[in-house]
Amino acid sequence: MHELSLTQSIVDIAIEHAERESASRILSITLEIGAFSGVIPEAVEFAFDVCSKDTLAEGARLDIKRVPGLGRCMECHQQVELEYLTYTCPLCESLALETLQGKEMKIIELEID
Ligand SMILES: [Zn+2]
Repeated sequence: MHELSLTQSIVDIAIEHAERESASRILSITLEIGAFSGVIPEAVEFAFDVCSKDTLAEGARLDIKRVPGLGRCMECHQQVELEYLTYTCPLCESLALETLQGKEMKIIELEID
């Protein structure tokens, strides 16, 4: 389960930030998970409980925002929302689709006390 190591690094980043700000605890962490990241939000939630135990992040609220996939075609120059990762443009069927978003997983907001 690669969510465990991904979540561990998210928790590490959050704790590092909280310590730098001399925070006593982390209240909430907002994550963005792209549709193509291969990361299952439910698995992240489960892993978060394990990774945050006995740290500044214990008990923090985890907000997960799903980011839809987005591609841009270099042939017809349209932007299209994608449900799955593909390089074929659904509009003109060229193989010139470039992925704009959907592969990322990152912290977008951190609330500390
Ligand atoms: Zn196209």
